[in-house]
Amino acid sequence: MACLLQATTGSALTRLIRNRSSMNYRPDRSIQRRRSRQIMVGDVPIGGNAPITVQSMTNTATEDVAATVAQIQRLEKAGADLVRVSCPTPESTVALKSIVRASQVPIIADIHFHYRRAIEAAKAGAACLRINPGNIGNRTRVREVVKAAKDHGAAIRIGVNGGSLERHLLAKYAEPCPEALVESALEHMRCLEDADFFNFKISVKASDLFMATAAYRQLAELCDYPLHLGITEAGSPRIGTVKSAIGTGSLLWAGIGDTLRVSLASDPVEEIHVGFDILKSLGLRHRGVMVIACPSCARQQFDVISTVALLEEQLAHIATPLTVSVIGCVVNGPGEAKMSDIGITGGGNNNHQIYVSGLTDHVLRNADIVEHLVTMIEAKAAEIAANDAVQIEFVS
Ligand code: SF4
Repeated sequence: MACLLQATTGSALTRLIRNRSSMNYRPDRSIQRRRSRQIMVGDVPIGGNAPITVQSMTNTATEDVAATVAQIQRLEKAGADLVRVSCPTPESTVALKSIVRASQVPIIADIHFHYRRAIEAAKAGAACLRINPGNIGNRTRVREVVKAAKDHGAAIRIGVNGGSLERHLLAKYAEPCPEALVESALEHMRCLEDADFFNFKISVKASDLFMATAAYRQLAELCDYPLHLGITEAGSPRIGTVKSAIGTGSLLWAGIGDTLRVSLASDPVEEIHVGFDILKSLGLRHRGVMVIACPSCARQQFDVISTVALLEEQLAHIATPLTVSVIGCVVNGPGEAKMSDIGITGGGNNNHQIYVSGLTDHVLRNADIVEHLVTMIEAKAAEIAANDAVQIEFVS
């Protein structure tokens, strides 16, 4: 169904490109995903041929149910497939029950140090328990967590982190390194398997790009469990986005990764936007409006930068995949418009060429560009969504 959704959206040309991309028709756009087994986090499949999911984490006090639910709803609106919530206190796992009930997306409980919080979170309805091998405690405790996960239908993420490795691994390797991250993951993988539990995914995060990506590449060769990608503590929106795009993006490009979180010191909603932008850039998933815009220069016939900023703001509510080109002049405008669902090319004397589905449609004269494009794009998104619904019904 996911492939079908990807394959039936957009204008004739963009649809063709997407079809080709999803069916590996064009080798230059093809990414062969690592074959991972599929697990379920609530009703969301992770791994196998499921779409790569995007998740974020709340930063409200979990005990404050209203604030946490409000943030989760903002994340859902932005497209989050999963949301992680910290459970540091007994009060937080009490609150988790109400949070899970009020959320549309599966909730992952983030556990450090206190294995009892994991057991409480499973009872509270968490769809997944993120445990950190470096601080969850001995095997007996892990087995108790596994029992709770089994009893309550929760998945588990083995969340290894370069900043909190087990002492014996630090003693063995002297310092965090890819091999230590992988060894930690494999030890806990065996622990869960020994307890006859297989509904889990693994992450081996580090803030160091080289360490994290090397660890993920090694781990991808050694097991078939789904991998949760992330460059941890990546930093502010600017550097964090760049680091995540390089680290997570290079792994995805190599076919590695089944779910991801972009870690930014910013509004969690921004993490969802960046996560989707990374996937969109690699053609791995399409959601919302992708604006192709020139950087502008002295040849621009309208203010490209402010137009793009306003369009992104006013089109954020659209989930239907759609490409819009906003180009300041005829140098690149017609070419980009051919590959867009809606396009504008700046023309002289405030006469701008508008394109629909790659073809010239009409000239916009002395009008509000943003207002005009928003109306057109909303209508186009509705048309694409309706066509996709008909095609899906027809195929199924
Ligand atoms: S497309 Fe035109 S306006 Fe935009 S950067 Fe290129 S030359 Fe300048």
